[in-house]
This record gives sequence, structure tokens and C-alpha cells, in this order.
Amino acid sequence: MFHLITFEKVVKYSRILNPLKNFEEDIRVFEYRTDPLTGRNTTVIKGMLNYVSRFLVSDLKLLNSLVEKTRVNCPFCPENVKTKTPMFARDFLAEGRIFVGDTAITPNLLGHAEQSILAILSREHYLKLKDFTPKLIFDGLKGGTEYLERLNQSDHSVRFPVFIFNYLPSAGSSIFHPHMQILVRDRPFHLVKLLMEKSKAYYESNGVSYWLSLISKEKGGERYLFENNGVEWLVPFAPLRGLNEVQAIVKGKSHLLELDDKERLGLAEGISKVLRFYHNQGYVSFNVILTSGPMDEHLDYFSVDLKVISRPGIQTLCFTDAWALPYLLWDGEAVEEPEKLAEKIRAFLGKEEN
Ligand SMILES: [Zn+2]
Repeated sequence: MFHLITFEKVVKYSRILNPLKNFEEDIRVFEYRTDPLTGRNTTVIKGMLNYVSRFLVSDLKLLNSLVEKTRVNCPFCPENVKTKTPMFARDFLAEGRIFVGDTAITPNLLGHAEQSILAILSREHYLKLKDFTPKLIFDGLKGGTEYLERLNQSDHSVRFPVFIFNYLPSAGSSIFHPHMQILVRDRPFHLVKLLMEKSKAYYESNGVSYWLSLISKEKGGERYLFENNGVEWLVPFAPLRGLNEVQAIVKGKSHLLELDDKERLGLAEGISKVLRFYHNQGYVSFNVILTSGPMDEHLDYFSVDLKVISRPGIQTLCFTDAWALPYLLWDGEAVEEPEKLAEKIRAFLGKEEN
């Protein structure tokens, strides 16, 4: 019953005469993997991580100079938060902003949805990825949830929330200072809509949640990472983007208002672990999406889901991995085998514990 998910892959080869090997014949391997829920293709290209790795590290001198430059007049630094960030309307929140620990929750000046909120996470203007502590991330999730609860009481039509992180310009952030965004709309974002539709169809034909089936199938396997406070962490078989992508599933919870502090801690500790791994690999930049079903209804067929990826380094070349294939052709590409990534993360976390 719990093993209805199939992991399909097709392996293709091509031959070239390689100038780096005195024009000897070289065989290259392309693995087409089908996402078991959506059917979307991700091509796993062995050896690609090695090829792109020079774009993933940072020019630390340049990075430090940008940190100093952007610190001047940063609206999110503690001395400016109360004068340079917007406040909520008085009838929504009399105090204007929500504070939890070092996190400040404020509306976004312009925004990306009818409800577009910022969680400013730290008093520090810049953090290395190893310094995103579980407490800092937890406070952001907690403050964001307080906002969602208030929103849910005042306006039932805005039902679909996501939390996202964009850290540093190479991850699409216009502001250096560590922050999360909470976007809430009357309609789901495209990916959430797709996942909900496919999850519903899976549930209707199999009588069981895809997400619980996936955990049951992956637990203890070659892509599985760890469990933390009701949250399961793994590397997806066919990643969305494929640059060090890790996934977390909150078991049995279909929307963000169903999460309790224990699960928020499970998410925060897991994100912090993955970011420490990224730091260890020399990365400085990342994105996270935390997706949710509608806030006014529990869905047996759906689960709160998180994806985290690393992004390119800060360099004068301005390399981006948002190129035509993933960005416009909507296909996935993984720069190494997901199983190999999972093995590296497990080894890193194992060493940390000892
Ligand atoms: Zn700042």
C-alpha cells in the first residue's frame, strides 16, 4: 500500500573526442529522472558539479566590500528598523509591527502579493551561513505565524501563504540584511497549485497521501537525511533546481497554521543544519520555499513542504544559475547525483555530532 511511488529514470550516453584527453573517446552520461508526483523531468549530469564549482565559491574581498557598502543606510539594521520600515495599518495591528526575539515583522514597502510581509531576522547586517542559528530561524517562523493568525482572523479570503528566503543578491535579494518574506494570496502560487492538484489525484487513486507514502518509501534509504521534531528531511529524487537541493516534509500537517512550536523547531534546526553544510562547502547564498495548503481547511492529501537550495557565489563575473533551461524551459538539472549529495550531508552532520 505504501509503495505505490515509482522512481523512474532513463540513462542516455553521448560520445565525444575530448581535447582535454588528447582527443581520446569520452562517454558522457545523462540521467533523465521523472518527479514521482508531478512527472517533471530533471536531468542528472554526472561531473557537472565539478565543472560549475568555480562559480559557486565567492570572492571574499568583494563580498566583504559589498557587506560594508550595503550596511550604510540599511533599513533592516537595528538603528533603522523603526524609522525606515513600513508599519501595519492601525486597525490590523495597533503596535504597527510584531517583534519576536531579534525578529521584526513588518509589511513590505512594495511587495509581491496582496499580503507581502518581511521577517527581519537578525540584528547583524551580514551572516555567514553557519551563523543562521535555529533560534534565529525559529523566531522568524514564529513571528510570521503570529502575523498569519492575525490575518486569518481578519480576512478569510487570503488563504495561501508561503515563506521564502532569498539570501544575498545571487539568490535574488535586493537587500543583504538576513530576512524572510511571507507572501499570502487568495490563490496559490503555480507550484503549490500543481502539487495540490497532483496530490489530490494521487490520494483519489491510491487512498493514501503521496507525502506520507514518500516518507515511508524514502525513510532510511540512500536519499534520506534525518527526522527532527516531526519534520522529515531528505534529498529529492528529481530536484526542482538541483543545486544542493534538500527537502523537508511536515508529516500530517497541510497548512502553516497547523504547525506547533515543536515542528517550527524541527524546520529551524533542519534549515540551520543544511546551511552549516553549505557553509562547509564554501557557499554563501541560498533560497528556501516553505509551501502550504489553504489556511482554512485541513487536507488529508497534502503536506507542508520545504525546499532549500544553494546559489552561486558573489563574484565579479556575475554568473547566475537562473539560465534558459530551468528558468524558461521549466526543466530541472541536477549537477550531481542526489544520492551522492545525501551521502555528503550525512557524513558532514555525522562529523559535527562527534
Ligand atoms: Zn542591515
